[in-house]
Amino acid sequence: MSEQFSVNRELFDDVMVPNYAPSAVIPVRGQGSRVWDQQDKEYVDFAGGIAVNCLGHCHPALVGALKEQGEKIWHLSNVMTNEPALRLAKKLVDSTFADKVYFANSGAESNEAALKLARRWALDVHGSDKTQIIAFNQGFHGRTFFTVTVGGQAAYSDGFGPKPGDIVHAEYNNLDSVKALISDKTCAIMIEPLQGEGGIVSPTDEFIKGVRELCNEHNALLIFDEVQTGAGRLGPLYAYMDLGVTPDILTSAKGLGGGFPIGAMLTTTDIAKHLKIGTHGSTYGGNPLACAVSEAVIDVINTPQVQAGVKAKAQLYIDGLNAINAKYNVFKEIRGKGLLIGAVLNENYQGKAKEFLIAAMAEGVMTLIAGANIIRFAPSLVIPDEDIVEGLARFEKAVAKTV
Ligand SMILES: *Cc1c(COP(=O)(O)O)cnc(C)c1O
Repeated sequence: MSEQFSVNRELFDDVMVPNYAPSAVIPVRGQGSRVWDQQDKEYVDFAGGIAVNCLGHCHPALVGALKEQGEKIWHLSNVMTNEPALRLAKKLVDSTFADKVYFANSGAESNEAALKLARRWALDVHGSDKTQIIAFNQGFHGRTFFTVTVGGQAAYSDGFGPKPGDIVHAEYNNLDSVKALISDKTCAIMIEPLQGEGGIVSPTDEFIKGVRELCNEHNALLIFDEVQTGAGRLGPLYAYMDLGVTPDILTSAKGLGGGFPIGAMLTTTDIAKHLKIGTHGSTYGGNPLACAVSEAVIDVINTPQVQAGVKAKAQLYIDGLNAINAKYNVFKEIRGKGLLIGAVLNENYQGKAKEFLIAAMAEGVMTLIAGANIIRFAPSLVIPDEDIVEGLARFEKAVAKTV
């Protein structure tokens, strides 16, 4: 390399907008669930790029798909369609409730499309009064102005001037709080079928089924944001499949591309028809490179072996974390589903999740947090069992040094 400057963490502060506070570590390569930094220090990856790298790093099927498509055609725009997008859409439709797919480049964009579709559907079918969107406190749906306003943390949407209107928030797992808000003017309810960023909160059976019934009673659409829960993370291809509740619109991103940016909105023919020619669009959405990689992701993860593996690996984590807790008494609860796991710190360690994360990094294991009190694990769905054992051993050392 011929740079006349050092590529290091200090350079970030010099040349990047200061909206992030990245780790001091700069990873340069990865293989499976192991990652190496600039100093060639090795880490076990329990973070998965925030629930994105569902097949770890440089999975041969994904590298193969990217190389193959990279030598054929990269980009066309939506003035033309392309083979990878058509194949991926067909596979998504064949494996879910949906009949139609819209491609985007991220979770936020997929949710933006879902919300705009719901508003347009309501206008077309029920008239201009049906605009209310109900979402949930602590929910997270992305950072565009519409999606961040629908998300349940005002701190993220305040300070940018007037917000998109007619958006209200209920309490997750409190059906009465939804009943208090819903009416025939409700256009849609947007919900995560397990709150991720908001603290790894599973819905109760009664709550999630009740939300579906309330939507039915008031002719409102049910939108499942499966950006974090989808692509096999909880076990089934999508979380709704285990809940006995089918949404009207579902969004997917993160794991869908296994590390290549892509998002998708899935819905039925009857609803999709309201996104008529010209109503919405994206230059890159459905880009051939992204769709080729995503197709390879689906081919690998939508199999009984991988889905059974998620269950078995989740149990390894739960057993390992319980064993650590038995020694050090740091967690009040281990929760989540599949390979989206939250270790909730007990009263003695409130607000200290980041300290555990930093200590874990120093011991050579990458973790995540979900708020100030929860350490989150979102590893590859095919992480080798040996890597789980080794990563948890390193995590235990970090816990020992932090308590
Ligand atoms: C990460 C996330 C998003 C936002 O996705 P981006 O790709 O960052 O735009 C939306 N919803 C949920 C549930 C998420 O976890």
